Amino acid sequence: MADKFDVIVIGAGPGGYVAAIRAAQLGLKTACVEKWVNKEGKTVHGGTCLNVGCIPSKALLETSHKFVEARDHFAEIGIDAGEPTPNIAKMLEFKDGVIAKNVGGISALFKANGVTALEGTGKVVSSKQVEVTGHDGETASYEAENIVIASGSVPVEIPPTPLTEGLIVDSSGALEFDEVPKRLGVIGAGVIGLELGSVWSRLGSDVTVLEAMDSFLPMVDKDVAKEAQKLFKKQGLDIKLGARVTGSEVKDKEVVVKYTDANGEQEQTFDKLIVCVGRRPYTEGVLSDDVGVKLDERGSVFVDDECRTSVPGVYAIGDVVRGPMLAHKASEEGMMVADIIAGHKAEMNYDAIPSVIYTAPEVAWVGMNEQDAKEAGIEVKTGSFPFSANGRALANNAPEGMAKIIADAETDRVLGLHIISQHAGELIAQGVIAMEFGSSAEDLALTCYAHPSTSEAVHEAALAVDGHAIHMANRKKRK
Ligand code: FAD
Ligand code: AMP
Repeated sequence: MADKFDVIVIGAGPGGYVAAIRAAQLGLKTACVEKWVNKEGKTVHGGTCLNVGCIPSKALLETSHKFVEARDHFAEIGIDAGEPTPNIAKMLEFKDGVIAKNVGGISALFKANGVTALEGTGKVVSSKQVEVTGHDGETASYEAENIVIASGSVPVEIPPTPLTEGLIVDSSGALEFDEVPKRLGVIGAGVIGLELGSVWSRLGSDVTVLEAMDSFLPMVDKDVAKEAQKLFKKQGLDIKLGARVTGSEVKDKEVVVKYTDANGEQEQTFDKLIVCVGRRPYTEGVLSDDVGVKLDERGSVFVDDECRTSVPGVYAIGDVVRGPMLAHKASEEGMMVADIIAGHKAEMNYDAIPSVIYTAPEVAWVGMNEQDAKEAGIEVKTGSFPFSANGRALANNAPEGMAKIIADAETDRVLGLHIISQHAGELIAQGVIAMEFGSSAEDLALTCYAHPSTSEAVHEAALAVDGHAIHMANRKKRK
């Protein structure tokens, strides 16, 4: 008789492993199937996020940022440390160590919570049965009362730039360059393209980012996006908007990229090219043809607001379903689904999911931006505050950026917070909490913030919604 579980989760990324841990915590007999194998041939948990995504990219962003601080900014604050040189091998070793610690942590959590880790490729063969094909090719069958599909996503490849070993790479390849490319092309000025472009630009590459759209970061408030574009340009990123890549040719050890822009056909030669044009849901081999789980027009597993698929008892979460492809969104869905399976009431607030670009300064946002609110016919009032007027930011030698709050003109309810600054990825939690608790801009304005802290810029932005920021020339007389 096949082993029987209350829940089998397919995929151990931040969606799947969190769902499995939560389900086990709730007393459900849980298994999690994972097929990812690392360079040493060992099955590893953590999915894209821990192995080739959030965590390794942040390790390289941090090391390359520290290098720039030492090279360009230590002298400004009175540290004469000489001319630093990046040691790429050591940086990659540090990054790999960070991955190993994180990945090992998940396996330990599985053990501690009693989650059965199944190694191999999982396939939903019916609403209550999962087949697992091990790395040795042997297949085993497991019964499950509930199944959670958390198979994630993979990078999109485009016909003009087929991946070519070591020359034309996706985001995973860009985390492995063993030397700094002299001329680096990046296709796509999205979150991943800007982060990876920044890493190698800081380490010495001449980086050109080719972006098909005419607008820069359209999902971010226009004032914040404008500031970001200005600062990235100053840092040396050559961001070409309206540049659609149409072809490429690999010659010797170079890549010639063809693109079209407002002036017609263009060509540029690079030593390496990173293709960062988005990710697509991954469902290959996950579903038997006759199981009845429907996909939508984008190839995502179709789910309702509670992540139920078209087949009762089968759920899907994370990058493989609609919504932003973000690790924390996947994890929240994982917890929601585990709670629902355990018989609890649970729901997600999709309006309050933060996004962060971990450049320097960071760009972070939650909720509506001013242009989207206007387009939706919502009357808003806004309050902005520059970090150049924040004491802590000046003391940190990081005075760039601004915080902007978007509030409903009638109710004062916070609809969005958009920030560009050092540590904006930490500051944004204030906007998320404000939105979760349905607070008004005035609630934030009446809150006592620690001094000196960069959070005070959010406080001042909230005060500025009614024109009463303290450290800025006021627009209005207070009644
Ligand atoms: P995944 O993490 O993709 O995990 C899916 C897992 O399922 C994989 O381990 C896969 O091997 C496994 N799997 C698939 N099919 C099967 C099968 N049939 N059987 C068994 N196992 C299977 N997001 C953020 O929120 N913040 C960031 O800073 C951030 N940075 C990123 C940087 C980069 C370079 C990239 C590429 C992504 C980044 N992301 C970031 C996105 C983030 O990694 C994803 O949103 C997140 O990993 C999605 O989680 P998931 O669990 O849905 O899927
Ligand atoms: P994201 O989905 O945020 O990772 O961003 C991917 C970016 O790649 C988007 O801004 C797309 O407009 C851009 N993109 C997609 N295809 C091309 C192309 N052929 N040439 C240039 N940019 C592209």
